[in-house]
Amino acid sequence: MARIVMKFGGTSMAGTERIRRVANIVRRQQAAGHEVAVVVSAMAGETDRLINFCREANAIYDPAEYDVVVASGEQVTSGLLALTLQSLGCKARSWLGWQMPMKTVEGHSKARVETIDAPEMIASLERGEIAVIPGFQGVSGEGRIATLGRGGSDTSAVAVAAAIGADRCDIYTDVDGVYTTDPRIVAKARKQKAVTYEEMLELASVGAKVLQTRSVGLAMKEGVRVQVLSSFIDDDSTPADEFPGTLIVSEEEMEQILKDSDMERQHVTGIAHDKNEAKIILTRVPDKPGAVAHIFAPLAAASINVDMIIQNVGRDKGETDVTFTVPQADLARAQALLEDKRSEIGFNRIITDDHIAKISVVGVGMKSHAGVASTMFSALADRGINIQAITTSEIKVSVIIDEDETELAVRVLHTAYGLDASDEPVA
Ligand code: ASP
Ligand code: MG
Repeated sequence: MARIVMKFGGTSMAGTERIRRVANIVRRQQAAGHEVAVVVSAMAGETDRLINFCREANAIYDPAEYDVVVASGEQVTSGLLALTLQSLGCKARSWLGWQMPMKTVEGHSKARVETIDAPEMIASLERGEIAVIPGFQGVSGEGRIATLGRGGSDTSAVAVAAAIGADRCDIYTDVDGVYTTDPRIVAKARKQKAVTYEEMLELASVGAKVLQTRSVGLAMKEGVRVQVLSSFIDDDSTPADEFPGTLIVSEEEMEQILKDSDMERQHVTGIAHDKNEAKIILTRVPDKPGAVAHIFAPLAAASINVDMIIQNVGRDKGETDVTFTVPQADLARAQALLEDKRSEIGFNRIITDDHIAKISVVGVGMKSHAGVASTMFSALADRGINIQAITTSEIKVSVIIDEDETELAVRVLHTAYGLDASDEPVA
């Protein structure tokens, strides 16, 4: 017997029929002999709808009241799932954030889970009751409802799994696992048996949209084993206990999985793309100490995340060009802030481009293998794809290219790293 957290996303919860399918999956998991806690999202599209109501009510809305409104979507689905489970003869009840309680910090609309007090819920699980928990929310230090940021139900699920000491956190979604890249772009993309926390963290942060980035960081910190798997399954599908999806695990467990299945580690595990960044170039910035600080201090103060930064070699006139990227949604704000500081910074022109894409290759195998970056650069060059900027971390190489070349670049790289489905199986 194990203790398992199951999380269902918005598409799986959209309407009575789908909730009934979810209830069946949950019942089947319990019938396999496990204690089961379920975390649910709001129905697909519901959170967007609620956010729009807030905007219409008051353009400059109070985040605390925004949370009251947007948290309701998950409250509805948690109650509905409990009712549906009861209709199938299961014992089930909902646990709202204030009832556990799940305490949050860092205010509203992007709060963080700090503690979950679970003894009562654990006692209920031990009596064979299914716990249904609305995702995306907890209760703040002031005793008010607080939400965890878009996609936050993934984080709720991982936090609950850590708090109740679950053996596994299964994230049921509309894809059946984590792929080597987006299967809509590369038909030969493959589902992976397992990826490490570190790889998933990088993949999530560079545009792979399977899990909220924060949930992966929390799983890594708490050592929660996560499985991503499809919610569109029937009674004949492989049971979750036999791992039909992708496991997200520690480096040690990954080594074991590779050994058990007699597989070699790939240098590159996944290729992600992100079309939501924009590029800013400031020309003729004074090439002297403090100049760059003048550019980035106001952006940091406005919580604008700068990703890649390139400072060109200074020209002889003691001037240089500085290029960097920001999220597309923050471009207008960043531009206005920089214009505002024009005299302090002392640039000549500001050139922006939101027609770019960031392509990233990720893999723990890079740590011990040279040449991953150069494979990337030559594969892109062979297809005439121009690289506008580069950043690297220990397990990631990212480049900026023209947005129109996104799909081509992803396909070319998928082949270049030997990830296409006809090649050797990946772990
Ligand atoms: N319903 C919330 C959202 O759409 C949280 C979630 O589904 O994870 O962002
Ligand atoms: Mg989601």
